[in-house]
Amino acid sequence: MKKDELKQKCLDVIDAYRDQIIALGQDTYRTPELGYKEFRTTDRVVQAFRQNGLEPETEIAYTGCKVSSPKKGGPRVAVMGELDCVVCAEHPDCAANGNVHACGHHVQLANMFGCAMGIMKSGVLNELGGSVDFIAIPSEECVDYDYRNGLIADGKIQFYGGKQEYLRRGGLDDVDMILQCHMMEMEDKKKRCTIDTDCNGFVTKTVRFIGQASHAGFAPHNGINALNMAELALNNIHALRETFQEKDKVRVSAVITEGGGLVNVVPEVVCMQIMVRAFNIPGMLDASAKVNRALKAGALAIGGKVEIQDQIGYLPMKTDRKLSHLYRSNMVQYGGADEDSFVELYETAGSTDLGDMSQLMPCMHIWTDGITGGLHTKDYRLDDPEEAYILPAKMMAMTIIDLLYEDAKEAKDILAEFVPAFTKESYLEFMKEHSKVELFDGSAI
Ligand SMILES: [Zn+2]
Ligand SMILES: [Zn+2]
Repeated sequence: MKKDELKQKCLDVIDAYRDQIIALGQDTYRTPELGYKEFRTTDRVVQAFRQNGLEPETEIAYTGCKVSSPKKGGPRVAVMGELDCVVCAEHPDCAANGNVHACGHHVQLANMFGCAMGIMKSGVLNELGGSVDFIAIPSEECVDYDYRNGLIADGKIQFYGGKQEYLRRGGLDDVDMILQCHMMEMEDKKKRCTIDTDCNGFVTKTVRFIGQASHAGFAPHNGINALNMAELALNNIHALRETFQEKDKVRVSAVITEGGGLVNVVPEVVCMQIMVRAFNIPGMLDASAKVNRALKAGALAIGGKVEIQDQIGYLPMKTDRKLSHLYRSNMVQYGGADEDSFVELYETAGSTDLGDMSQLMPCMHIWTDGITGGLHTKDYRLDDPEEAYILPAKMMAMTIIDLLYEDAKEAKDILAEFVPAFTKESYLEFMKEHSKVELFDGSAI
């Protein structure tokens, strides 16, 4: 069958599933759950698949589920929809605990499901040279650390990010590339979607300056002032900013989370949280090492200690240009877009765990419209169900057909050109190596 005929068959099936696709999105919107707590959301996705005779694998990364097309030779493409929500207590649709889908993940799940119906129920797979996974993946937002640290302590997960965790568990071992869409209001109303996204990665630091308490009036000379260490460290960090290069887009943010106790006692312990973001991995590691030096210098000057707990959050994201170009072409051919309908590139300092995946395999991340209001804010609303729920499902399905048609020629070309920064093993090693606790004793020098 010709490629155009396959695509039309697939589009017709997605249209036939329109009500089910929208119902899944709307139901999910009513039960927002944070990362690794998406039990009801996972159940809802499982039900949607079962209703159509597909039995998903469950608990794939603590929560989450997956439906796979039968294994056959050729590349395997994964379509992902994220399960978790954010917290925004001012949003009129938020739950009692403030949870709300203000990042559009409920729409993503509907897109993933709609795409699955199109590919799995139209018979197009018989004519394609590869296979597809449809994955409802947990925990994209990097929040709620106490709960996740509890899961880590209990040995239930090892990573904050659901994609990172799923990769570690081997769930992506036979996946060659990933497709995903997010929803965002287009600033320019003539635009329909943003094709390429590149974004920052980040390291988090939990810092504890440890000094010596003493009476602030009678015997400050016997004390070692942890607040002074922190203050110097912050100034040291500010003095480093001129060494950060434009191309690395470094951002260092710091807050003091514990600043001392009684005012008449020399502060013994002062704690900080620091986030170091950068646009590429060398820039991220360079800035992180400089910040650690600045922290140690603060402790050294006062003769105290500093404990620095480094944790790699997410890695920088680089969209695969060839992959996203296919989506763009389909938008023109089947989505009613014209050449002016696109924002070609969005560079942002925000982060996602799809960034980690993009360092290992080709990944596509499209921002599509159908939404109004800022991401994660009280104004985020679904505006156009057809544009948000249905169109991306169709366009991802069209992209899959392009990739896997004619013995998956397009997918194989993309894979041949892609240069991964890591293998799975070297990625896990890298994450371990750069996520560590260091104690610097400035009193011994
Ligand atoms: Zn978000
Ligand atoms: Zn999101």
